[in-house]
Amino acid sequence: MSSNIKIMRVCLFCKKEFIARTTVTKYCSHKCNQKHYKARVKEGKIETSNKQTIKVIEQPISDIQAKDILTISEACKILSISRTSLWRLTNNGTLKTAKLGKRVLIRKCDLEKLVL
Ligand SMILES: [Zn+2]
Repeated sequence: MSSNIKIMRVCLFCKKEFIARTTVTKYCSHKCNQKHYKARVKEGKIETSNKQTIKVIEQPISDIQAKDILTISEACKILSISRTSLWRLTNNGTLKTAKLGKRVLIRKCDLEKLVL
């Protein structure tokens, strides 16, 4: 692909003009390429997280009630409280949680004990 042609291109990341040797060059430097790639990966992660949140919000409460082990988000939904309130309950020992890797899980029976 490399040839003697010189083409004015605009870097996709820093938006600066640069001379490219191919018509498909997208970045003025390897650094910009890397930075843009990292930014895209980050965006992707945020998007995945948002999708998960939406999934939990849209999850019917009957689905959650059918489960015995709940995630933090699901527990919040069942109790209709915010994450902050739920963390307060777990931090002061009112609510027991189990850690499985990075996930914090709550038994539904422990939730029920709270309101009994
Ligand atoms: Zn650049």
